[in-house]
Amino acid sequence: MLMSAFDDSYIMAKCKSCNAYTEVIRIPEFNLKACPSCFQRIYERRVRRVLERYSMTKGVEKVAVALSGGKDSAALLAAMQRLGWVMGFQVVALHFHLNMGDYSQRNLEEVEKLSERLGVELRVARVGDLGLRVRRVKGWTPCAVCGAIKRALFNREARKLGAQAVATAHTLEDALLFTLKNLLSRHYVFPRPVLPSQGDLIMKIKPLMYTPERLNAIYCREKGIEVFAEKCPFWSPKPHRLKEVFDHLEHIMPSGKLQLLLSLQEALPSADEAAWENRLHSCSSCGETSTQPQCALCRLREWFAKEDIESSL
Ligand code: SF4
Ligand code: ZN
Repeated sequence: MLMSAFDDSYIMAKCKSCNAYTEVIRIPEFNLKACPSCFQRIYERRVRRVLERYSMTKGVEKVAVALSGGKDSAALLAAMQRLGWVMGFQVVALHFHLNMGDYSQRNLEEVEKLSERLGVELRVARVGDLGLRVRRVKGWTPCAVCGAIKRALFNREARKLGAQAVATAHTLEDALLFTLKNLLSRHYVFPRPVLPSQGDLIMKIKPLMYTPERLNAIYCREKGIEVFAEKCPFWSPKPHRLKEVFDHLEHIMPSGKLQLLLSLQEALPSADEAAWENRLHSCSSCGETSTQPQCALCRLREWFAKEDIESSL
């Protein structure tokens, strides 16, 4: 399996940014070779361009960054914190403790270390305290349950923090995967880099949507950031295997992933906002905005509570 199309090691060459002959990192994705400090500047500049191009932080004073502790969210938190200083917004980190025993505890310890090192406030939401669990229920896979919990909690927890936007670490490969899966089922839609705020749903932004995962890992390495590399007990490679197609493309044609994403963005309509707005309800149990008459969190909570009663009988 091709994990990465390119070699992440250093070579001696001229940095294309500062012209010094030194150890450089090859970045064929952007047709560049850069020394470690120029690489960090280039990476942050590219994230900033995405924030500006899609008005992701316009009028925003506080951004909540969803932090799992993996390379993508760790890179996002570090870059957003630096960009916040120059662009005038505050950053807070939001972590979900998924109640998966020692795994979740080790995960929490890593994100606490990272937030402390970066000097970023960390808010931890424990799904166990909310009567929720990540596991199979009523035909939902554990990942579907986990995704529904996270989507709902991002909004509620970020609002409690006083944030006007939630930033998630969706990468270039995630956006390609979403689009290709849709295309393969004849569903022609492109993921939106920004989901605007509606009612009590706050704005969701994806600042890394045009950044390859490999560069997130290099950015963490260059900044000396330790990432949580353990896979979740429910993680399976199967849903991610299509990413190998993109790695092959990049191997044959450097920058192919980004060019493909930009072409798809031009060719495909983005998710229909009007249709989305018309589908919104107030949850019959908790009153939160939801695409269903009862929100996913309340449905899950009821199912788990019922299971608990039945198993105690
Ligand atoms: Fe959640 Fe684990 Fe599935 Fe990721 S792999 S969605 S963390 S359950
Ligand atoms: Zn509800």
